Amino acid sequence: MLSYRHAFHAGNHADVLKHFVQVQLHKYMNQKDTAYTYIDTHSGAGVYALDSDYASKNAEYATGIGPLWDCRDIPEPLAEYVDLVRAMNPSGRLRYYPGSPYIAEQMAREQDRLRLFELHPTDSKVLAENFRKLEAHKAEQGQRARGRRVMIERGDGFLSLKALLPPPSRRALVLIDPPYEVKDDYRRVKDALDEALGRFPSGIYAVWYPVLQRMESRQFADKLKRLPAKEWLHVTLTISTPTPDGVGLHTSGMFILNPPYTLEPLLRQVMPYLVRVLGKDAAATFHIEKGTQVTGAAAARTGAGPRQPVGNARRASPLAGTGSLRLPGQSMRADEDRQKPAGAQRDGAPGNRQARPAAHGARQERPAAQGREGRPAGPARPKGLAGPGRGGGRRG
Ligand code: SAM
Repeated sequence: MLSYRHAFHAGNHADVLKHFVQVQLHKYMNQKDTAYTYIDTHSGAGVYALDSDYASKNAEYATGIGPLWDCRDIPEPLAEYVDLVRAMNPSGRLRYYPGSPYIAEQMAREQDRLRLFELHPTDSKVLAENFRKLEAHKAEQGQRARGRRVMIERGDGFLSLKALLPPPSRRALVLIDPPYEVKDDYRRVKDALDEALGRFPSGIYAVWYPVLQRMESRQFADKLKRLPAKEWLHVTLTISTPTPDGVGLHTSGMFILNPPYTLEPLLRQVMPYLVRVLGKDAAATFHIEKGTQVTGAAAARTGAGPRQPVGNARRASPLAGTGSLRLPGQSMRADEDRQKPAGAQRDGAPGNRQARPAAHGARQERPAAQGREGRPAGPARPKGLAGPGRGGGRRG
């Protein structure tokens, strides 16, 4: 089933979380000269035009990059992501939004390799076309083409991942970001990671997922915690109270296996700001937890006491007040209050959520068609960066 088109959702709050983390993972990988392979198992179209029919249909970017666009007090690590988006929009008007392949293209160095997979026939074509335009643009700037740097393949990213592991340089950053339209995606992510870790235990694996009422989603993070990775880091961002019917995307998560030690402090710095700027009501919050394979709780690092070996059992170490992840709306007032930054109060704080004007077209979460499930089927028409031409999307 290939009805999912990311163009409908480009730049929403979930993309902000995912792409902010992605930028930081590249930055970490770039600290060493040795080349690495970036593998994007579910690439999408690479670049999205926010004024296309598709992106503007639900204007989901108004829940994410829209409110951030005019902020001037953005914490440095988040600003690195926002600046990348700004660089795509030199006119100052937010028109284009980067997908994960474009972010990788910008963040990875000449010596690194990008391996991009996309199953949808239209989006894989658009992705290839966007990269062709990027290469042409670089050539105009006098930059030498690096023939084997980027490989784009129309294919199943779950199946293709294993063939690339271990990578030649023994360094890899893998992003797994399926649509989760079908519940099998949850199982496939876990199985793909299990196999990938067997082939290449030291890779950094980042998984995006929607936090929804459905059981597969609720149990997902706990299943990933049992994978044979040395360490994991888990962050979720909730922007609003779930609707009573449970439809819509209010919370999303990033689960990182073998996370760089640099990431958790950055998350702790940035997540309160994202809650303040993107949060829509009192349910807005974030959670960060981490754990290790053998020792369980990362208590030593959170100052809660010495590490206790617990055999193979793994235990979450809550870093933001709550241990295991709760669904938004579940009773957690005390935890939320602890997690909210001082600036998160809604009365008079600069990030006053209820009083935020609709300057960016911000509006209430719609009751339906916001999550990755139950979304309207339809095509994307992302434009390439290099020119005004449509990216090959079609209604279908
Ligand atoms: N990672 C992209 C980004 O952040 O810009 C967004 C990807 S989007 C959420 C998921 C994409 O996966 C869709 O474009 C969909 O067509 C594609 N897809 C679905 N199943 C796939 C599979 N088995 N292998 C590769 N791509 C798949």
